[in-house]
Amino acid sequence: MNIPKLDYLHAMGIQAWQLKSTKIASPTPSINEWDSLRTTIANCTACGLDKTRTQTVFGVGNRNAELMLIGEAPGFHEDKQGEPFVGHAGQLLNAMLQAIGMERDQVYIANILKCRPPDNRDPSPEEVNLCTPFLEKQIALIKPKLLLGLGRTAAHYLLNSKSSLAELRGKIYTYGSLKTPLIVTYHPAYLLRSPRDKSKAFQDLQCALQQLAEK
Ligand code: URA
Repeated sequence: MNIPKLDYLHAMGIQAWQLKSTKIASPTPSINEWDSLRTTIANCTACGLDKTRTQTVFGVGNRNAELMLIGEAPGFHEDKQGEPFVGHAGQLLNAMLQAIGMERDQVYIANILKCRPPDNRDPSPEEVNLCTPFLEKQIALIKPKLLLGLGRTAAHYLLNSKSSLAELRGKIYTYGSLKTPLIVTYHPAYLLRSPRDKSKAFQDLQCALQQLAEK
């Protein structure tokens, strides 16, 4: 509004409303949060696995995914390529997703540990404790409808349980402060060694689909 017009309105006792100066829109907070999380993880030296890693393995996929898959830790190929589940187990995982009509880029895939333990040993409780806040932040940013834990080790840490995977699968749990629904199934690397259990994993994936459809 021009100044003479404002003076005129003022003289008439009318308080004019003006638009504040337009600011350049800042990036949405979640983009900043993703970037800062990625940087924090890339620079993390908390547990000592930085000494043997090639690079950190952040996670990959759709940041608005309804389904988030959680593995244990990067292996040899993941450590080299910086992406979860890219080796043989990853190929089977892609095929498992396709079997229920989903593509890899529809879901989000992350691991509990962001660094490869040497010789693919199991993650230690201390490593998991130090790394879990990163996973929790990813879950908080994505807000998936369902988490799918892959394999016994991931299931043990996510559920704080030592039961066998056979006992743990087939039930719906919740995870973390957001109480995100969680189911667990066999790790694709295990299924490569024990293909007879593929049908059970298929059942678990169908249960996941049903869960997603119900909400
Ligand atoms: N096994 C996992 O648990 N995660 C990977 O990224 C690869 C293999």
